[in-house]
Amino acid sequence: MAYKGLLERYAHLLDLPAHTRAVTLHEGNTPLIPVPRLAEGMGGGFELYVKFEGLNPTGSFKDRGMTAAISEALGRGSKAVICASTGNTAASAAAYATRAGLRAVVLIPQGEVAAGKLAGVVAYGAEVIQVQGSFDEALSMVVQLSEKHPLALVNSLNPYRLEGQKTAAFEICDTLEAAPDMLCLPVGNAGNISAYWMGFKQYHQKQNTDLPKLLGVQAAGAAPLVAGHPIEQPETVATAIRIGKPARGEQALEAAQESGGRIIAASDEEILAMQGRLASEGIWVEPASAAGMAGLAKEIQAGNIDPKGQRIVAVCTGHGLKDPDIITQQMETPEVLPLDLGVLEKRIVG
Ligand SMILES: *Cc1c(COP(=O)(O)O)cnc(C)c1O
Repeated sequence: MAYKGLLERYAHLLDLPAHTRAVTLHEGNTPLIPVPRLAEGMGGGFELYVKFEGLNPTGSFKDRGMTAAISEALGRGSKAVICASTGNTAASAAAYATRAGLRAVVLIPQGEVAAGKLAGVVAYGAEVIQVQGSFDEALSMVVQLSEKHPLALVNSLNPYRLEGQKTAAFEICDTLEAAPDMLCLPVGNAGNISAYWMGFKQYHQKQNTDLPKLLGVQAAGAAPLVAGHPIEQPETVATAIRIGKPARGEQALEAAQESGGRIIAASDEEILAMQGRLASEGIWVEPASAAGMAGLAKEIQAGNIDPKGQRIVAVCTGHGLKDPDIITQQMETPEVLPLDLGVLEKRIVG
């Protein structure tokens, strides 16, 4: 039977109100890609997979939560939705809102959103407002606006976002026909790690699958959950996780702890190096998306994790096309040669 999106596939497992009216772009159903060479590079002896969430309709996992949040908002009679975003939430909200015929207003930190994300928001037709402040400050504004006005908040404070995002855990268990031993993923506002844990726990109860250890990874310059306090001026190349005051921070720490895992930080160098290693496997992800795998490599190297015999999944949250500048800024302009067979032969085959 043709795939028709997450709500059709998993709505029976999601805590959504009866008024919910499905708005879908057939999100989810993303591949779980084995990366044995990458596992070898980390010492080998274990199974390693990438859950490639960049293959969702707007290029990030945010579509999982957004199909649920927008479907609920539409069913409730909302006419407009609002969010603050480092880019991917905005693009996803814009796409699902326009699909539903709703107005979308997004607040982004001025000059801080990657080109591919901003382009998406504009292409889908949302109203974009740059604010002179950080993501955390923009989030505080949209929370206040949504409390005073009929604007549905679609940040991950919205519980339906997490309901939708649980489906990634379901898919991993369904594909592997078991839970993995460990799940590694980037942590920004901390909604995703919280949702995965809810999903794995639910499958544990319903399907008797095991519970994985969670390894949440923040960027070193934006690691409030590692530092134990908010970071006033978070700084990292991984813009999707440049967040100093995670809305779901407590929940994320609890999830990691309950799972027997933890939340660590990886440096920008480690994140970018892993972005390169993933790309050489044919999987191009935006910098933030490489953080989970970067943290895993770091923990194995430090001897904090012994992966032998384990089955590990790293979530790659968003597509590389979202942030082309990070690549093009570092690269040399490709060489130019005349359209001459001899010249080309000499250059290519010597
Ligand atoms: C939103 C996002 C994250 C962080 O997810 P949280 O739920 O905020 O922790 C990581 N990577 C990408 C690509 C994202 O868009």
